[in-house]
Amino acid sequence: MKICIDAGHYGKYNRSPADGRYYESDLTWKLHLLQKKYLEAYGVQVVTTRSDKNTDRGLYDRGAASRGCVLFISDHTNAVGTGVNNSVDYPAAYCAINGSADGIGMALAQCVERVMGTQQPARIEHRRGQNGDYYGVLRGATSVGTPGLILEHSFHTNKQVVRWLMDDGNLDRLARAEAETIALYYNLIDPIPEKKSGWREEDGGWRFYLGNTGEPVRNDWYKDGEDWYWFDGAGMMVHDTWKAGNDGKWYFLNPDGTMAWNQWAVWKGNLYWLTKDGSMFEGEMCMSTDENGAFIPWNVTRKMTEVPLKKEPVKRAMDGNAGETVRRKACKRIKKSRKTRKFKKKKYKKTLRF
Ligand SMILES: [Zn+2]
Repeated sequence: MKICIDAGHYGKYNRSPADGRYYESDLTWKLHLLQKKYLEAYGVQVVTTRSDKNTDRGLYDRGAASRGCVLFISDHTNAVGTGVNNSVDYPAAYCAINGSADGIGMALAQCVERVMGTQQPARIEHRRGQNGDYYGVLRGATSVGTPGLILEHSFHTNKQVVRWLMDDGNLDRLARAEAETIALYYNLIDPIPEKKSGWREEDGGWRFYLGNTGEPVRNDWYKDGEDWYWFDGAGMMVHDTWKAGNDGKWYFLNPDGTMAWNQWAVWKGNLYWLTKDGSMFEGEMCMSTDENGAFIPWNVTRKMTEVPLKKEPVKRAMDGNAGETVRRKACKRIKKSRKTRKFKKKKYKKTLRF
């Protein structure tokens, strides 16, 4: 569905006698862009009559720009006389004389009355000229078969009205309510807020949205497939840094955000080992290389040395402490920790008993 919206005037036009900062052209320009935004949320295709606020375009042309649209709206604020008149404030829709826009015209004028809280009730009007509609924009709209109307958003000759219209929050509410009115009139379905789900690249990083709530994971871990991720309070995936777990242990988040486990990690020029549960390893480890000279991670080395010990208990007993010395020499200390060393010693003794 297509709707054509026309900002009533161009440049700086129709200054309010009640407040010199107000121009009808400024107001209708802002308003028509907001209406566009809210109508588009309903899936409406919106055509505007000007791409530039400061360029004039003929009245008839603007109306005729609505070819293929279901509705043409020209936004205005009204005036009574040239001075201030605080007693006149009725919203009005000047509808095409063929009656094609009467229904939506009344609905929109009443919407303006309701949102602005005018003293006088909304009305619709028709004005006949010598060649059909008096108003050029409506003649243009009718010429291409579009129901057209001019919507007067109360009067800029009224001080209270001007004050209300100069509030951007009010203008936003007005535009939103008008889009709602149009949606209701044309049976458009409420825009369903998009429920986000899964990974989204936004705000310079990544978030993970839970499908059931549409909310991102915040201040929490989330396991996606085989990998764990941590998200901060803003829901952003944290990466290439450490995260203290509730267990008091440190976990490393790889540059790609995955929690490191059973792997080495280089961080700020230092090498760390992350264990199978992902916690940072502290202590000593024995390292040996494979047939290609590559280091085998500590836990793999342990398994490999333990197996032959169990198989040859007699030989181990005979070698006695010599075996332990050899192994100790092969140990590479990554971090000195007395406690861990003691623990290790005990462990080795235990191994030797086999
Ligand atoms: Zn006007």
